[in-house]
Amino acid sequence: MEKKPLNITVLGSGTSTGVPTLGCRCPVCRSHDPRNRRTRCSLVLSRAGRNILVDTATDLRQQALREDLNHVDAVLFTHAHADHVNGIDDLRAYNLQGGAPIPIYGHADTITVIQRVFGYIFDDELEPGYRPRLEPHVVSGPFDCCGLPVQPVPLHHGGSLSLGYRIGPFAYLTDCNGIPESSRSLLANLDTVIVDGLRFRPHTTHFNIPQAVEAMRELQVRRIILTHLSHEVDHERHSQALPAGVELAYDGLRLEFSI
Ligand SMILES: [Zn+2]
Ligand SMILES: [Zn+2]
Ligand SMILES: [Zn+2]
Repeated sequence: MEKKPLNITVLGSGTSTGVPTLGCRCPVCRSHDPRNRRTRCSLVLSRAGRNILVDTATDLRQQALREDLNHVDAVLFTHAHADHVNGIDDLRAYNLQGGAPIPIYGHADTITVIQRVFGYIFDDELEPGYRPRLEPHVVSGPFDCCGLPVQPVPLHHGGSLSLGYRIGPFAYLTDCNGIPESSRSLLANLDTVIVDGLRFRPHTTHFNIPQAVEAMRELQVRRIILTHLSHEVDHERHSQALPAGVELAYDGLRLEFSI
């Protein structure tokens, strides 16, 4: 395969409530630092004119406007928690450009929940213009997505499962608090990881920042970028205290690889 640039843009770096959190008057929620304004967690991978979304976050429409995302070719779903799927109806606008249904990929459990919760989308009796046209694909191993080799990586997310996705030297591991032993070999020789690092205090379903750093260090990741950040994390203040090679994501952060 000929190498081409893979551009990655963080659409959202915030936890499920977003930051600022509604009704909160804490210093981070009242901060004027744009890096403390975090929409719900999502990412877009762009290569050779194709755009692959990771999740359809609650804030998808605003994220797409901000990043001038003018078409979507596929969606990889990490799991079916509300903050990661609730923007799914906004895919309808991209369907209006014509073309085939947008393929969506995820673990069997995730696809099942999406089909149940958003039943109208998959109800062929309904008028097509009022629902996104999507083509579900269950994934359980490596697959090709718009010419990119994608490796799903099962992760512990409390008592449930989420999928991370690895593309070449990069992996996106949001919403997790443990790496199953069987997934470790899928994460060898990584350069850069964007990983769940909710806050400093422990949490039952998310890595906190020290846990995320430790887990990524065990995998010998060179560059560790923390995401799914809560309002307990102040970008400027806490960035200064992070160890070398560890940084905080922010909405609009861009990375580039050659794949
Ligand atoms: Zn989440
Ligand atoms: Zn707050
Ligand atoms: Zn989640």
